[in-house]
Amino acid sequence: MARYIFITGGVVSSLGKGLMAASLAALLQARGFRVRIRKFDPYLNVDPGTMSPYQHGEVYVTDDGAETDLDLGHYERFTGVSARQSDNVTQGRIYQTIISKERKGDYLGATVQVIPHVTDEIKAFATADTDDLDFVLCEIGGTVGDIESLPFMEAIRQLHNDLGRLQSIFVHVTLVPYIAAAGELKTKPTQHSVRELTSLGIQPHILLCRCEQPLPESERAKIALFCNVRPEAVIPALDAPNIYSVPAQYHAEGLDDEVLRAFGIETAPEPALERWIDIMDRYANPEGEVTIGVVGKYVGLPDAYKSLHEALVHGGLANRVKVHIRWIDAELFEQPDSDIAAQLEPMHGILVPGGFGVRGSEGKIASVRFARERGVPFFGICLGMQMACIEGARNTAGINDAWTTEFGETSEPIVGLITEWMSEEGLQKRSADGDLGGTMRLGAYPAKLTGNSVVAGIYGAEDISERHRHRYEVNASYREPLEKGGLIFSGMSPDGTLPEIVERPDHPWFVGVQFHPELKSKPFDPHPLFAGFIAAALKQSRLV
Ligand code: GLN
Repeated sequence: MARYIFITGGVVSSLGKGLMAASLAALLQARGFRVRIRKFDPYLNVDPGTMSPYQHGEVYVTDDGAETDLDLGHYERFTGVSARQSDNVTQGRIYQTIISKERKGDYLGATVQVIPHVTDEIKAFATADTDDLDFVLCEIGGTVGDIESLPFMEAIRQLHNDLGRLQSIFVHVTLVPYIAAAGELKTKPTQHSVRELTSLGIQPHILLCRCEQPLPESERAKIALFCNVRPEAVIPALDAPNIYSVPAQYHAEGLDDEVLRAFGIETAPEPALERWIDIMDRYANPEGEVTIGVVGKYVGLPDAYKSLHEALVHGGLANRVKVHIRWIDAELFEQPDSDIAAQLEPMHGILVPGGFGVRGSEGKIASVRFARERGVPFFGICLGMQMACIEGARNTAGINDAWTTEFGETSEPIVGLITEWMSEEGLQKRSADGDLGGTMRLGAYPAKLTGNSVVAGIYGAEDISERHRHRYEVNASYREPLEKGGLIFSGMSPDGTLPEIVERPDHPWFVGVQFHPELKSKPFDPHPLFAGFIAAALKQSRLV
């Protein structure tokens, strides 16, 4: 039977619980255990798909087509275990399930209540589909004391009892702030946070204490005493130089040993950390550097492009170079006096990422043109590929009015709404006036690559599968004029109807993809397209 690790947070939000969960899972996996991480989000949206990236950061998409919290991206990047729909639930989804059951009469006349109905639904979610696992790590979003997270706290309290002895533990993540004026680390917020947690019936087994300064033994002992845990179970989590050094750092502080001890597991192999040590070495000792300009819309919030940022870093690890990312607001290039060349000339590669809406689109199209004309490596992702096709249509195929129906009516729909397409589950349909949530082409779809294409060389394969999240598609009926202009459709859906990849073979590196390759990149297994793009940027850096 799977064992459960419930991870809660206290004192403040943004402590990086997701990264901690991912790092702990990576350590357990490195000891040979089978792990899976789940995220419980207390907000009332059914999923984060309709939330602005500015509110909630990136929407992470799974192979099975779920729009989920960005923490699932960390989970995949650290463990390599593909996340599933069943690994992220929101309070909104829990209520949606309960209300639809109530309407069907499934509760047989009972009064439907938070306890037991909501808590039962949460428990059912936590324990579903875990037979083949050794550990399930459940991260509870939010901070202890939030009204919204109460049903989740109650559910894990109950589950701890239901599961029986030594089958589950609580790990609480807190902050030990450094007060510069006093020159001291303060333990009081941690004490209060644990008190809040115990008032809900949850006694943590392990405290993971985020701190900017090393935690002195005296303070560790004090936290242990006041919070009713062993001193060894107070794990200092000092700020790390980069996220991929966190697993090794926590191991050095004894986190995984304490977790196993709390479960009463006395014999477990030492973790095989070679893969993390190699990544840390590549990270710390780059042999060169490149600068990539990302021309997008949500450039003010790094979390909005979390996976993209990480995938570029992975591309750097693959080539042993440091990647500097310049986030450029596409709207800047729409000002009449903007000097696009001055902004983009220092870049060794230009990337136009995914996005929604017309704002900044002419700036993106101008960036594509700059990259094409100047021979600068170009990578277009999702909306970025659509912009590359519109640029190609206007400037190399003479279709001056080229446009996408996403932004309004047009006589030249280079990109348009496709209302029917095939998936493994059969014919999928969507309509222009359908719901916004959950109605896009979502999740993994196969694509066929042309044998002698640039991308087939990069992948080393002709059959690939990648994750999608978009409503519009490049219109295959423009294939001929676009290819005459040098933009080759080198990847198509297996039925040949949907363009999935375009490339310019006469350019040093110019690739547009309709999917999101950044979602599948891992530090120990960089995505080939990102490795290839950074390799091309490195070549470019030696030219300029
Ligand atoms: N807005 C575009 C579409 O819906 C692209 C989406 C994206 O880049 N994820 O097709």
